[in-house]
Amino acid sequence: MQDQPLLEVSGLRVAFPTARGYVEAVRGVDFSLRKGEIMSLVGESGSGKSITMRAVMGLLPPAALARGSVKLLGRELMGIEEKEIRRLRGSRMSMIFQDPLTALNPVLTVGDQLTEAIRIHQPRISPKEARERAIELFRSVAIPYPEKRMDQYPHEFSGGMRQRVVIAIAIANRPDLIIADEPTTALDVTVQAQVLELLSELCRVNNTGLVLITHDLGVVAGMAEKVSVMYAGSIVERSTVDDLFEHPRHPYTRGLLGSLPQMTGDIGRLSDIGGAPPTAATIPAGCAFNPRCDYAVDRCRTETPALETYGPTHVACHLAHTLPEYAEQRKTA
Ligand code: SF4
Repeated sequence: MQDQPLLEVSGLRVAFPTARGYVEAVRGVDFSLRKGEIMSLVGESGSGKSITMRAVMGLLPPAALARGSVKLLGRELMGIEEKEIRRLRGSRMSMIFQDPLTALNPVLTVGDQLTEAIRIHQPRISPKEARERAIELFRSVAIPYPEKRMDQYPHEFSGGMRQRVVIAIAIANRPDLIIADEPTTALDVTVQAQVLELLSELCRVNNTGLVLITHDLGVVAGMAEKVSVMYAGSIVERSTVDDLFEHPRHPYTRGLLGSLPQMTGDIGRLSDIGGAPPTAATIPAGCAFNPRCDYAVDRCRTETPALETYGPTHVACHLAHTLPEYAEQRKTA
């Protein structure tokens, strides 16, 4: 079906066992992604971004309990057999992790790791054809001298080149969906920009959907079309990137944006969000952000806000309808 979403996540909840029973680290997440679309999942460490996407990939630890629905091209993935989800991983969807060194096997050449990724999902392909395809993939991710580099080990590559190897493995079987979890955190800024540009170009060319997990709003602005902001296991604001940057409605999003340096020439103080995010076991009643929110009212401490629609934006805040104007008035008062 032409308009069928590539990925539909609804009512996703993930809980982990603790000494005090199960606690929820992901608390009812909904979003969808079309083919070729780039979405970013943003939030501080511990907000549940990575766990959400690991649940999509079926990569949660065995003790975790996941509920809700995850559909890939209309097919329900929750509850399917392990061997089936393993078949989908690497062929229809793949994941790029933060640290390319730990993602690669240090005792195998990068060429062996790439050809293995190809042959697991395409068993009819001969070793010679797999090697040719691997060289072609290295070329497509701009690894110089690909024939020679195939026979080298991960430690012989720089951080940026290792992440290119990981990207080559992720796209080896032309998946419909790529999930990139902080893919450039371990890289320096110049290499970071090159790797992100490469990833976004590959997704555009192959019409691959990309979910980019990051805590860096600068990366979001340069790459994604839409964005979901997570806090304490829930999405608190979901919008197009343009609208989110121009009209942030949730106080948490406003705090994240306020901590970004501006290119306007004003060298003012950067603001920060006071306090620390709660752990899954210490999420407060009402709005989870209320202990850190400058605008909290009594209702915020007892009633959990639902996501409501404001044009292209969905916001979970009791004051979202008045907050932008109110915040402006406070700033100029
Ligand atoms: Fe702040 Fe209340 Fe909105 Fe939560 S619901 S973000 S505490 S104003």
